[in-house]
Amino acid sequence: MFLKRIELHGFKSFAESTVVTFEPSITAIVGPNGSGKSNIVDAIRWVLGEQSAKNLRGSKMEDVIFAGTDKRKPMNIAEVRLILDNSDGTLPIEFSEVSIGRRVDRSGQSDYLINGTVCRLKDIEELLMDTGIGKEAYSIVSQGKVDMILSSKPTDRRELFEEAAGIIKYKNRKREAAKKLEDTEINLARVQDIIQELE
Ligand code: ATP
Repeated sequence: MFLKRIELHGFKSFAESTVVTFEPSITAIVGPNGSGKSNIVDAIRWVLGEQSAKNLRGSKMEDVIFAGTDKRKPMNIAEVRLILDNSDGTLPIEFSEVSIGRRVDRSGQSDYLINGTVCRLKDIEELLMDTGIGKEAYSIVSQGKVDMILSSKPTDRRELFEEAAGIIKYKNRKREAAKKLEDTEINLARVQDIIQELE
């Protein structure tokens, strides 16, 4: 699996519909300061569910929408799609090409999409779980992150290895199952109380 293409429309400095195509192997994006290199990384992070405007180098989520220039009016919607080559079947979905998208408008209305169909962020997270792609995963190493990893606590660093080893999915499921069990026990206790009252 590899990232084949990014399609941007109205995202940060990309007012024009822009398509960035990648080949397998190494790609480097070069350009003058302020030309939008980091905005491409922000776009990937945003599609993967980043909720913090600060992590996208803005102050509010609306800042991801093209804000206008002297020559061009601001836009009202930002949309980004990541097109992944899934011909090796890494993603558990029966498509050789998978598109993951996110769009937002100035009212704050936001949608996530898998292959053009609106879905929940959870669906995207589950689809990508254990692939190494994710907003928190090790696939995006931002400036300063290497320092942070080296100086982090062993328990925090362990999470990184767990994601890489593919066990985070099972930890999450365990946590969800434990929560359900706890809720069920509370419900059972309530039913028990009611039965006692009736007896
Ligand atoms: P450097 O090499 O200095 O790190 P870069 O190529 O990574 O630069 P970016 O940080 O990706 O550049 O892009 C910064 C540019 O994006 C700035 O010119 C900024 O005005 C523009 N920009 C950011 N958000 C928006 C927005 N919402 N609307 C319009 N332009 C934006």
